[in-house]
Amino acid sequence: MSASVFMRRMALLLSMLAAPVLATEPHLLLTHATIIDGTGTPAQPHMTIEIKGERIAGIYPDASRPVPDGTRVEDLSGRYVIPGLIDAHVHLTGAEPDFAHYQPHLQALLRGGVTAIRDMAGDDRLLAYLAAQANSDALASPDIFYVALMAGPTFFAEDARAQEASAGEPLGQAPWMQAMTPTTDIPLAVAEAKGTGATALKLYANLPASLVAKITAEAHRQGLRVWTHATIFPATPGDAVAAGVDTISHSPYLVWEAAPKVPDDYRGRAMGDFAHIRPDSPQILALFKAMKQHGTILDATLLPFVDEAQQHSKNVGVGIMPWSYAVTRLAHQQGVLIDVGTDSSGLPADAHGPELHALPSVHAEMALLVEHGGFTPIEAIQAATQVSAAAMGQTTLRGTITVGKRADLVVLTADPTRDIHNTGKIAFVLKNGQTYLPDGG
Ligand SMILES: [Zn+2]
Repeated sequence: MSASVFMRRMALLLSMLAAPVLATEPHLLLTHATIIDGTGTPAQPHMTIEIKGERIAGIYPDASRPVPDGTRVEDLSGRYVIPGLIDAHVHLTGAEPDFAHYQPHLQALLRGGVTAIRDMAGDDRLLAYLAAQANSDALASPDIFYVALMAGPTFFAEDARAQEASAGEPLGQAPWMQAMTPTTDIPLAVAEAKGTGATALKLYANLPASLVAKITAEAHRQGLRVWTHATIFPATPGDAVAAGVDTISHSPYLVWEAAPKVPDDYRGRAMGDFAHIRPDSPQILALFKAMKQHGTILDATLLPFVDEAQQHSKNVGVGIMPWSYAVTRLAHQQGVLIDVGTDSSGLPADAHGPELHALPSVHAEMALLVEHGGFTPIEAIQAATQVSAAAMGQTTLRGTITVGKRADLVVLTADPTRDIHNTGKIAFVLKNGQTYLPDGG
């Protein structure tokens, strides 16, 4: 055996030893389950889910079909099955001080029920590597979809995060951190962004409305999604929606749609006049109407603002949380689609970084939607599954419990329709047909 073959076999053996996969059943029946399928349909009791390999092959009432030979049957009496959760706003590469921490971090997300994440800007050199590992199931991890960021040139001089994420490249010229001006060759810039493996652009800051419109049209032409901040100033949220962007982030920043003027610079974004601008201002209601027409998804991200309002209240406008809850509730009532994103590493953090033994933050964001955003638990689950999959541009195989889709499922020991916090009571997680236990067994 040659040395390289030996090394490959050793690597395979080690990866098998290290892999936390409990079992990959070629043919598995989950019986006596109560299904909450992610489409907003009420819970369906006494159901069987048939899984063949990586896909859902059948969904039917218990005992309505014979059990095929060679099938493993898992009795889920008293258990509840929801689609794998999707955190639609994560920043993975800014959160970890040490490369060695990514594996336990990503495992913690997966064991906590998160089967996919949308990374909303970071170092694409690292994200491309992690996504290749995660999306091929070589690593126990949620699947990863990520962006290439574009902003006005002044942003890159101001923002340490952008500088860090493109270290080693000239400022504003890395394909995943590009400075855009009215003279930029937009088709080339979009092609370079696409070359990073990103599935979308993130338009972040300091861009005029005309440039937002041109970039969005070109990105869509080249098959990329466009995910924006609500505060790309000087472009307003309404400018972004009119340009046809696919998602728009951060409920509190919608305040700028009704402000007499927007700041010249994105750094003023959290200081909205929440005391005087009503969430149901005519401009904001018009924005919701346009979002509904275009199918623009609101990435509400309530949780990071709760933390910020508590810990650094001087950094945000007075009254930010009641306003953000009210505007999110209103958007939901008006039929705007809302996803579940946490604008975090995906895990709660303490002074030392992400807490690897904590429940992923996506559960807390879902609870906020129920407790403050006017969502029913069924709607919050739909937001974190079907709508987050749509936000990520990945509805073909993900987001709902549907025949033909990937077997990305979370099995719960308690009813999440009675108490949304029960989404954290996890018996086991299936991703792409492979089983993972919450305690790492
Ligand atoms: Zn973010």
